[in-house]
Amino acid sequence: MKDDNSDISRRQVVGGAGLGLAAVASVSASSRGEAAPAPIDGLVDPASKYPKPPFASQSQPWPGLAGKMEPKPDHGETSYRGSGRLAGRKALITGGDSGMGRAAAIAFAREGADVAINYLPDEEPDALEVIALIKAAGRKAVAIPGDLRDEAFCKQLVETAVQKLGGLDILVSNAARQQTHASILDISSENFDWTMKTNIYAPFWIIKAALPHLKPGSSIIGTTSEQATDPSEDLYDYAQTKAATTNYVRSLAKQLAPKGIRVNGVAPGPIWTPLQVSGGATQEKLVKFGGMTPLKRPGQPVELAGIYVQLASNQGSYATGQVYGAAGGAGMP
Ligand code: NAD
Ligand code: MG
Repeated sequence: MKDDNSDISRRQVVGGAGLGLAAVASVSASSRGEAAPAPIDGLVDPASKYPKPPFASQSQPWPGLAGKMEPKPDHGETSYRGSGRLAGRKALITGGDSGMGRAAAIAFAREGADVAINYLPDEEPDALEVIALIKAAGRKAVAIPGDLRDEAFCKQLVETAVQKLGGLDILVSNAARQQTHASILDISSENFDWTMKTNIYAPFWIIKAALPHLKPGSSIIGTTSEQATDPSEDLYDYAQTKAATTNYVRSLAKQLAPKGIRVNGVAPGPIWTPLQVSGGATQEKLVKFGGMTPLKRPGQPVELAGIYVQLASNQGSYATGQVYGAAGGAGMP
């Protein structure tokens, strides 16, 4: 299988994990207040692997920066180890600067893929770290900032990624907006539109632009949510966009199967990311974040990285129209 037989890529990938460490993690994780990277090998208790609530109350303006969170999320910077599963692949990830998108970007690069990331211009500090990590893994890194609410930008994003990567065979549509509102009466039409444009229109525009470039074997992955099936009372607008995401995954999977393009979703539960500290959750919810799950803690972005890799790689060739959950024991995909 092409994914498994490139010695050069495998060396670069495995070496890249170490270089990434040197380039970005020059001081210990604990001294930076990060979620401590867990040991990679051996038995690890998932309940005590990462920080538990109570968390410090904290708030950032939207879209927020991972680098300013306390504790800092673990996106796999020092822990994700690749094994050539995506050697030679070319990936575009929206929201690749932080959270699940960043975890996927780091993992994809260490698995041997060249990676383009999109993010908002305000997120440049997070994005620069991701670009450095992709390069440290020995792969091509392409930064394409811009606002996905603009159809023309979405088209240009895909064209730029295709041109700079020399093709495209993995698309991770992951960016989203989430804002908590106690009442439907608090949601203005402008805010509703913002959420719909980001979470529903942008994937539509991006997938349309990408499709002509995707060859058989390519993979589209949408980040959906447990909110798709178990919506919270304060996420009226956001939750319905995640139901739409789960739904488009299942529709497109049927439509694109004859073309050899797989379409799948990842449905996180409560994950420690900037989206939650920049208006996505109330302070009351944030302080207790993840505590209501059976594992009694939020997930870290890196804990979902392997799901994105599996769905993108040839090993996942019979998975299409599927939604994979990672929600700490609660919620349904
Ligand atoms: P995040 O804040 O790290 O990532 C969201 C990203 O969306 C941002 O980094 C930003 O780059 C991007 N984005 C938002 N609006 C944009 C716009 N107009 N133009 C361009 N980019 C824009 O948070 P995250 O939690 O990693 O979110 C990633 C995905 O995970 C989202 O689809 C979210 O709905 C989903 N999700 C998150 C959780 C959670 O608890 N954190 C749970 C379920 C699902
Ligand atoms: Mg971000």
